[in-house]
Amino acid sequence: MNSSRVDRLSSTPRIRFYGVQDLDKLPQLQKLSSADRKAMKAVAQVLPFRVNNYIIENLIDWDNIANDPIFRLTFPQAEMLAPENLDKVLWLLDNNASPEHMSEVVNSIRLSLNPHPAGQIEYNVPTLDGEPVAGIQHKYPETVLIFPSAGQTCHAYCTFCFRWPQFVGMDNMKFATRSSWRFQDYIRQHKEVTDVLITGGDPMVMKARHLSLYIEPLLEPGFEHIQTIRIGTKSVAYWPYRYTTDEDADDVLRLLEKVVIAGKHLAIMGHYDHWREIEPNVAKEAIGRIRSTGAQIRTQAPLMRRINDSPEVWQRMWQEQIRLGCIPYYIFIERDTGAKHYFEIPLVRAWEIFQEAIQKVSGLGRTVRGPVMSTLPGKVVIDGVAEIYGEKVFVLSFIQGRDPNWCKRPFFASYNPEATWLSGLTPAFGERHFFYENRLEEISLDKAHRSLESGEVRGAIALQALAPPDK
Ligand SMILES: *Cc1c(COP(=O)(O)O)cnc(C)c1O
Ligand code: SF4
Repeated sequence: MNSSRVDRLSSTPRIRFYGVQDLDKLPQLQKLSSADRKAMKAVAQVLPFRVNNYIIENLIDWDNIANDPIFRLTFPQAEMLAPENLDKVLWLLDNNASPEHMSEVVNSIRLSLNPHPAGQIEYNVPTLDGEPVAGIQHKYPETVLIFPSAGQTCHAYCTFCFRWPQFVGMDNMKFATRSSWRFQDYIRQHKEVTDVLITGGDPMVMKARHLSLYIEPLLEPGFEHIQTIRIGTKSVAYWPYRYTTDEDADDVLRLLEKVVIAGKHLAIMGHYDHWREIEPNVAKEAIGRIRSTGAQIRTQAPLMRRINDSPEVWQRMWQEQIRLGCIPYYIFIERDTGAKHYFEIPLVRAWEIFQEAIQKVSGLGRTVRGPVMSTLPGKVVIDGVAEIYGEKVFVLSFIQGRDPNWCKRPFFASYNPEATWLSGLTPAFGERHFFYENRLEEISLDKAHRSLESGEVRGAIALQALAPPDK
């Protein structure tokens, strides 16, 4: 080992994870009252909690934790549980309840948190030779999602994440690829697919050599129809060393480069919730190194109360991203699961924040689309609020639809200042149905039928579709 290698290793930050058992030990948390710490502990019994040393040391302002967005993004907060649930768990903690008793109560609370948001039970796991293909989801014709089994965790957990059931072991990773590589045959045979999106959890928790097992085959003959490979990741914000000093950081970059050299478009779909996540030098350096491979970085995040619910936060974040050469892509509406009540924002407010922020960035930042809801019929965007012949309405449209032909057809819902999700909206102008509803029913029935015929649906195996990627 030469000396420069030694230097480099000695300055290599190593990731350390912190979980519920560390809440009493973390020095930074000593500023909180013990009651507050206990409440955090109670919440962390129910919702997953994992944070790391980089976040603690670089992204959180410990002098102002009461209002810190990254603290709320990563640490459990008392208000994330309903008061009666919080009290129940606190009581159990205070009375040293048995693990069995605790998990019984915790599980019943989890079930009450809508772990599988409405419409997520469906029958369309792709099949190959009549057998379901593990580890992929194919909802829109041109894009297949891959969920590598080794990428089903993250460098830290976001408190809003709709994938929380999988992190607490409620879902047995029905979608993870496990050891089967049949999904590659599926992609090879489906020539309508142009995009592959590798998602998780976070695929960048994988070692470069594991990641390459998913990526390199797509560069081989037989996959010429794959034009774009996307990797959805929060690592750019939560552990940028993945691209700078991690042991296999250079291998990661070489892998990205290989995709570009093979003539494909490689997009890192970077999940950034707040401009603070791109302030540290290492975060900027990570972006620079990724871009030096020829990969693009597109950015996306949900809009959340108490974290990024102001136009200034988005404007500043997009401007900084553009300066660094990233391309703003999606702004999402948070899904109706988990601690939704803590984060939710009325649709109208979400649109106002978006509208106020986007008008202040140049055209290069106006590539961002939203606010978007990923729903059963498709990705629905709130285009705005209008008054049409005296009726106040939401103007909506699909960015992606179960039926691709729904895309870009404006439709209208009665104005409802409280609605926080599509399910809270009704058609405007006295119509009984949204234009897509009959067709959606046809598609669902048809899929259920075909699944039944192929013997794919046995007993209660309606597989839950994983919610769409948030990064
Ligand atoms: C968003 C999404 C995609 C990708 O859609 P783009 O419009 O190409 O970004 C693919 N599959 C699912 C299930 C999605 O939610
Ligand atoms: S939002 Fe992404 S990074 Fe955050 S916990 Fe969920 S999967 Fe992990």
